[in-house]
Amino acid sequence: MPRMLDLRHVKSLAVRDLIELANLDDFDRVTEQVDRVAGCTRPVNLVGHTTTLDAATRTVLRSYSTADEPTGRLLTTCGNRRASRCPSCSRVYAADTYHLIKAGLSGGKTVPETVRTHPRVFATLTAPSFGPVHNIRANKPRCACGTQHDKDAPELGTPLRPSSYDYTGAVLWNAHAGALWARTTTYIRRALAAYLNMTQKALNAALRISFAKVAEYQQRGLVHFHAVIRLDGPEGSTEPPPPWATIDALKAAIENATVTNAADETANKDTRARLTVASDHTGDREIRWGDRLDVREITALGDGELTDKAVAGYVAKYATKSAEDSGTVDRSLICAPCGGRGYRGPDGLPDLCADCDGTGQAEPLPNLRVQRHVRQMIRTAWALGHLPEFADLKLWKWAHMLGFRGHFSTKSRRYSTTLGALRDVRKAWRTAQAHTEAGQDQPEGSTTLLTESSWAYLTSGYRPGEELLAAQTRHDIHQARQAADRTKTEGELWQ
Ligand SMILES: [Zn+2]
Ligand SMILES: [Zn+2]
Ligand SMILES: [Zn+2]
Repeated sequence: MPRMLDLRHVKSLAVRDLIELANLDDFDRVTEQVDRVAGCTRPVNLVGHTTTLDAATRTVLRSYSTADEPTGRLLTTCGNRRASRCPSCSRVYAADTYHLIKAGLSGGKTVPETVRTHPRVFATLTAPSFGPVHNIRANKPRCACGTQHDKDAPELGTPLRPSSYDYTGAVLWNAHAGALWARTTTYIRRALAAYLNMTQKALNAALRISFAKVAEYQQRGLVHFHAVIRLDGPEGSTEPPPPWATIDALKAAIENATVTNAADETANKDTRARLTVASDHTGDREIRWGDRLDVREITALGDGELTDKAVAGYVAKYATKSAEDSGTVDRSLICAPCGGRGYRGPDGLPDLCADCDGTGQAEPLPNLRVQRHVRQMIRTAWALGHLPEFADLKLWKWAHMLGFRGHFSTKSRRYSTTLGALRDVRKAWRTAQAHTEAGQDQPEGSTTLLTESSWAYLTSGYRPGEELLAAQTRHDIHQARQAADRTKTEGELWQ
């Protein structure tokens, strides 16, 4: 029975809560739970139990229930990818992404080291222009507006003439960027076959092209993609591609599939990947890549060249960024009660939604604290969301992402290990550790085990007292990281 304390003289709610926690029977377990989520900003609180039984005798071998926890629940990490939401979980995500990309480049985690000898490039694919924007060009002293902009000037990337900027085109491009990428992977295969004078069937029997890509927002509010593209043997990363499948062939195929049509001079047909979007309201539009393509060879080692490590580092950094980095908002703008429709009840029976006054928006667009250009992208996405031909694009849902539907990182099946696999490894390790701590060994060999569990989401976040403990955990992690960095730098000095 916890002692009853009179804490009325303690003004801080967090301190009062911490004292209450400290007076629980098992305060160590409270701190252990907070430590285990490693500084997560808003951990998920779960309630439930897992029981492992011997299937034959129904004897309980192990059981865990949150009812036995001092606070009656279990904290788990939120796992959010975005640094703006949870710095610690995004760091874990970045580290996982780094190892995933690195494994696909230099081996490790089930990918053999020989993968380094395969032709590999790092490609950046961008959107076309939807009108001139304020910018800084290396070869020009001034922007077209006559000003010399600062590196971090807010107007960079925004239209020179907003009234004639093609906002519809820009939003539709973002909305189809994922589909364009998917189609491009097919077109690269096709262009490679054409470059090598082979049929696609013969090419597919001889090699495989593996991809891993991340999306990033440019200042103009359009996404662009960074991709690692690698040639493998037909079985994937374990096999080298045939010697005639060279880095030059791969580079030419990527160019021909995205920006130029030089691949097939004899047939003289356009080999660029593209999508046609049909709409009576906006007119038919072709969705394709812009002319600025950057394709660079990735080398295993090297001075000043693009190395495995550098590429994995870039990709990991991009993976934790999000639309907020281009100055938009981090939440969906759909009015939840009416689902963005602006009215409730069945279709055809307009009953104006009281929550949004019929706008369908959770927050009025004019009130958003965003730049005019971003607001206009959001407005355009919202307006296009009313058109039946664009219903599949779910533009209301993705308006705050300026039309882009997420999927920040994707990779082909054989590129390397998956993030899920990395997480499972960590989870298995944690579970094993928990069992060792509790002094419970795995039961002997031949028993058939039965696991029963039931879990439910309770809420998100810490108790005020735990928040203080979490701040300490974050501080400790930060100190440890700095110390590790110092040791590393000192180590490098001795090399
Ligand atoms: Zn988190
Ligand atoms: Zn300018
Ligand atoms: Zn509403």
